[in-house]
Amino acid sequence: MISQKIQKALQGSSAIRAMFVEGNELAARVGRENVYDFSLGNPATPAPAALNEAIKQLVDETDPLVLHGYMDNAGYPDVRQAVAENLNKRFGTAFTSHNIVMTVGAAGGLNIIFKTILDPGDEVIVFAPYFGEYKSYAANFDAAVVEVAPDFETFQPDLEALEKAVNEKTKAVIVNTPNNPTGVIYHEETMKKMAEILEKKEKEIGHEIYLISDEPYRELVYDGNQEDFLTKYYRNTIVGYSFSKSLSLPGERIGYVVVPDEVENADQVIDGIVVSNRTLGFVNAPSLLQKAVAKCLDEKTNLVFYDENRKMLYEGLQKLGFHCIKPEGAFYMWVKSPETDEEKFVAAGKKYNIIMVKGSAFGCAGYVRLAYCVSHETVKNALTAFEKLAEDYGL
Ligand code: PLP
Repeated sequence: MISQKIQKALQGSSAIRAMFVEGNELAARVGRENVYDFSLGNPATPAPAALNEAIKQLVDETDPLVLHGYMDNAGYPDVRQAVAENLNKRFGTAFTSHNIVMTVGAAGGLNIIFKTILDPGDEVIVFAPYFGEYKSYAANFDAAVVEVAPDFETFQPDLEALEKAVNEKTKAVIVNTPNNPTGVIYHEETMKKMAEILEKKEKEIGHEIYLISDEPYRELVYDGNQEDFLTKYYRNTIVGYSFSKSLSLPGERIGYVVVPDEVENADQVIDGIVVSNRTLGFVNAPSLLQKAVAKCLDEKTNLVFYDENRKMLYEGLQKLGFHCIKPEGAFYMWVKSPETDEEKFVAAGKKYNIIMVKGSAFGCAGYVRLAYCVSHETVKNALTAFEKLAEDYGL
């Protein structure tokens, strides 16, 4: 007999994964080239050559007992120092290795942050639409996610709604910018106002509210938008970063957490995060990958590739009459369903082998997400399929 908690989790299992499986089944039947699978945020450009070179060099030149051995649960001190210095160079911060904990991707990072700060019954505020796994991660620690609806014009967070949602149980607020699933970047103005609200609310409720910045898409920005680093807005900010998207390494499970010294009881928070890395069973981030990414901190993914898909899909869908939110970052497009029940729209898409993910999987019904981290050809051919779908809806 499995636990009641997992029984419940199985019922609400990931809609993204479900669509990915459907896409694969469809591909087996009609051929991969005839399926327009926009379900999964799996990068479509290879990891930079420098990363592969770094791995080869490390394997050839490092004592295997060291390279594949255990280390400090926080990660290698030299790797953490390299990450700290790279952030300082790029964002004018003053971190040292002490502020950095290497993690098993963003997912591992979020779980060790949550384990450190959450007690059962605590609340974590998320801005819809949001990465659905936040709910599972909070549930791991018997905490609840509280959804705040967006401003439906801009898909910036609704800050008045945030103010109303905070109460004594609020322990954390998660932001994810550039955003999955909308591709929207939260404005500087939004972040400044959010910081003001959280500072005021901390005083009112008498304890810290941590702002958790989940930033796997930090470097994926278009149209001259600048990479942002959110610790400058609000004192109690903890950052979770991942190389999954920025260096196309999702299967390698590598990222880091940043806890600035300004965070209330920073040392205790860092100690908690390090212990949680061990006790949750991660023990440490993958050793070889820690060493490899440390050599590639200035490497970039092929943004031009994603940008081309972004433009082709956005312009193509707009022309066909679909209402899309223009993505400014990440590699997702957020499209309004032409009928109220977006699950019916998703089903209608499948008739033409288009695989989309329903908005309700992100806490925001009435929309769908398209992950355009696919080949240019897939986008191009998908537009012909979308044309038929648009005709069916009389667009
Ligand atoms: N957070 C967001 C917003 C994501 O989109 C993802 C993955 O798609 C993650 C976290 C998890 O990333 P990782 O593969 O680094 O665990």
